[in-house]
Amino acid sequence: SKKERLDKILANMGYGSRKDVKKFIKDGRVKVNNSIVLDNEFKVSPYEDEIFWGDEEVLYREYIYIMMNKPQGLVSSTDDPRTRTVIDLLQRQHLIYKPFPVGRLDKDTEGLLMISNDGKLAHELLSPKKGVNKKYYVEVDGYVEDKYIEVFKDGVTLDDGYRTLPADLEIINANIISKVYLTIQEGKFHQVKRMFESIGMKVLFLKRVSMGPLILDEFLSPGEYRELTENEINLLK
Ligand code: URA
Repeated sequence: SKKERLDKILANMGYGSRKDVKKFIKDGRVKVNNSIVLDNEFKVSPYEDEIFWGDEEVLYREYIYIMMNKPQGLVSSTDDPRTRTVIDLLQRQHLIYKPFPVGRLDKDTEGLLMISNDGKLAHELLSPKKGVNKKYYVEVDGYVEDKYIEVFKDGVTLDDGYRTLPADLEIINANIISKVYLTIQEGKFHQVKRMFESIGMKVLFLKRVSMGPLILDEFLSPGEYRELTENEINLLK
């Protein structure tokens, strides 16, 4: 591929101003293919050469795809003047791609959140026309009766008069606090909570476990994230 100046690539990627980057190179802290490069005008093939910024590998590519187990307490927007966002959890080597959350989870909701800079894929996953399934693990205050399986399949009317599309309720355990899965194919504001409200019940805990073919990695604790594998990316396309 086309060769470009090392300092230009690093500055464009957000590692610092041209001046900062030049100094970092002059200080012997940048390696290309395992050798320290002191010449900031050195030309590299960004996709092929292995570049290290200190001990951080410089991953040069157009798109980034991240799966996060969103923790409670953070909002899933890109910037919020008052509250920490999920983007604040990312390390610089991921931040440089300017990724944004693909869809939203409430501040008190946990679980699968995709973060990417691929606008086209985001659009595909979020387009109401595509009806991508979102599966939630839900803890509900009170006994969730079997009859609600049919009720949610038929659709319920939310507080604003909206009639929901068929949703799939799976009761894991009905008790004083019930554990269920609810799969919906749309994503109205607070939809899961409002669906339970429509049957007079309150959601106590909400966690998204899958989105389309993408399943939350059970090894990710709340607040942790990893990049999608090749395989997962292909599943989404
Ligand atoms: N439904 C909700 O009520 N909240 C979420 O965060 C996601 C779905």
